[in-house]
Amino acid sequence: METDLGEYILQLAHEAPSHIVAPVVHKNKEEISDLFAEKHHLPRKTGIAELCREAREVLRPAFLNADMGISGGNFLVAETGSVLIVTNEGNGRLVTTLPRVHVAITGIEKVVPTLEDVSTLLRLLPRSATGQSITNYVSVLTGTKKPEDHDGPEHFHIILLDNGRSGLVGGEMQEMLRCIRCGACMNHCPVYQNIGGHAYGWVYPGPMGSILTPLLGGLEKSPDLPNASTFCGACAAVCPVKIPLPDLLRKLREKQMQRGMKSSQETFALKLWAWLALRPKLYALATRIGVRMMRMMGGKEKMLHTLPGASGWTNGRDFSAPSGKTFRELYKLGAHK
Ligand code: SF4
Repeated sequence: METDLGEYILQLAHEAPSHIVAPVVHKNKEEISDLFAEKHHLPRKTGIAELCREAREVLRPAFLNADMGISGGNFLVAETGSVLIVTNEGNGRLVTTLPRVHVAITGIEKVVPTLEDVSTLLRLLPRSATGQSITNYVSVLTGTKKPEDHDGPEHFHIILLDNGRSGLVGGEMQEMLRCIRCGACMNHCPVYQNIGGHAYGWVYPGPMGSILTPLLGGLEKSPDLPNASTFCGACAAVCPVKIPLPDLLRKLREKQMQRGMKSSQETFALKLWAWLALRPKLYALATRIGVRMMRMMGGKEKMLHTLPGASGWTNGRDFSAPSGKTFRELYKLGAHK
């Protein structure tokens, strides 16, 4: 049973998370009210505090009766053997101290040498993730319950996941192992904001997911992700551990080219674009015609429900119609000022 409020809501709805820090960001309060009324068989509530209370009341017996609590770990401290958990809801403390057995599962890159090192990361993580100077709960869990302790597990296991991570050490993508999963890159990514977290197809959405998913799951299985970026650079600018995300995405694109993974359609489209881009007058004329046609197709709504050659996009979401002017026309008009 999931105990983080967002994850619990998703478990009830049989849905996947769409954000690593705010997993249920794609649902509104009314949808959650309906879901709770249907699944909890209680009168429908609409206030946020009432909904939270209802979730607490449903979850509390699960905490009290569980034999085993499973947590992640934001950091592992090598010098003390501790698992560090950062939460805002307190569910982490109940999961890790009430049941008889605690199992912590986390990736090998979360191991940090000393508590001193963790203190630096503890300042970076909440500021970039939620804008807080510190999260509500920071738990440092070291070993099992001692005779003088009031609570704690009798058994404590740590499972370290490799899953392709050690293969990245020393390679050109190594910098991705610095990721502390704050989610800042996706919060600022224009592509994430338009397509939503589910479109990334695996546990990690946004720019960090566009790199981690191909690295851990295989580039062949996620050929679109390295291309899910405008290269605007916002992700790298906000990343608290200074991962050069656009550079890594570019390296993945290079690998795709080297392995011949580009479809003939895409290669043709790029060649056509390159040919046009080398002829500025023709390029300006073609883009002028293109944006005006799209503006007309967008109608009063200024939205395109279908777009030839882009059905993969419009099957699942609308496409905003351009203003009817090209970038260069807007620039001349001073729209950038
Ligand atoms: S890549 Fe950087 S910004 Fe994105 S989640 Fe990881 S640490 Fe945060």
